[in-house]
Amino acid sequence: MAADPLIELRDVNKYYGELHVLQDIDLTVGKGEVVVVIGPSGSGKSTLCRAINRLETIRSGTILLDGSPLPDEGRELARLRADVGMVFQSFNLFAHKTVLQNVTLGQVKVRRTDKAKAQEKALALLDRVGVAGQADKYPAQLSGGQQQRVAIARALAMEPKALLFDEPTSALDPEMINEVLEVMRQLARDGMTMVVVTHEMGFARSAANRVVFMADGRIVEDRSPDEFFTDPRSDRAKDFLSKIL
Ligand code: ADP
Ligand code: MG
Repeated sequence: MAADPLIELRDVNKYYGELHVLQDIDLTVGKGEVVVVIGPSGSGKSTLCRAINRLETIRSGTILLDGSPLPDEGRELARLRADVGMVFQSFNLFAHKTVLQNVTLGQVKVRRTDKAKAQEKALALLDRVGVAGQADKYPAQLSGGQQQRVAIARALAMEPKALLFDEPTSALDPEMINEVLEVMRQLARDGMTMVVVTHEMGFARSAANRVVFMADGRIVEDRSPDEFFTDPRSDRAKDFLSKIL
């Protein structure tokens, strides 16, 4: 790979009780790379994202961020979580905070940015994702697509080294999917390192450097989108693609 590695998983294993949910996962995401993770429901995609962000512990293996192992707890961990922003299917905005407060809070609390500066940055980011006019509203007053763009702005406000997206458009009405994907495409063009779990194959084809296909807790294929979509090697991937394309 040309780029320096930013996220590295080496021989990572995780169990939920008896369930071996991540099996011998080796994955390297280079700086500026966009890796799309696809696979059937229950294959471990969300768990993979959560493990990268230490929202889940792992049984064995190593996860490195920018060459350093992940801290276990405390302030270091809070900083790491800010370094790897996460955008969820369900937006996860603070319901009782305005849009502006949502994008300002973490900057002040975790990054110790002064409030005026944090607000200025928040407004610029809200503008960048196309919701500047909504700054004083509450999340429930926004459409799903707008809320998800605010969630992206909130993640960006922490100046993350990488962003993880876990099915960011799955909860959206069809007409709002594109406005969110367009923001993500722009981030990719701007060089953001991204891991994106999605069923949007058009996005995978157009924005991904690599497609990682997971099944039963394993990475079954890890290839360029062109190779993957035109010539999937595994039966699992062929079967999956035949159902969704
Ligand atoms: P995906 O995101 O690919 O649909 P997940 O990572 O959510 O898959 O889940 C992988 C497997 O782990 C599934 O079988 C799921 O039921 C199981 N699982 C997920 N979270 C938990 C949990 N907190 N406790 C027990 N089992 C879980
Ligand atoms: Mg999932």
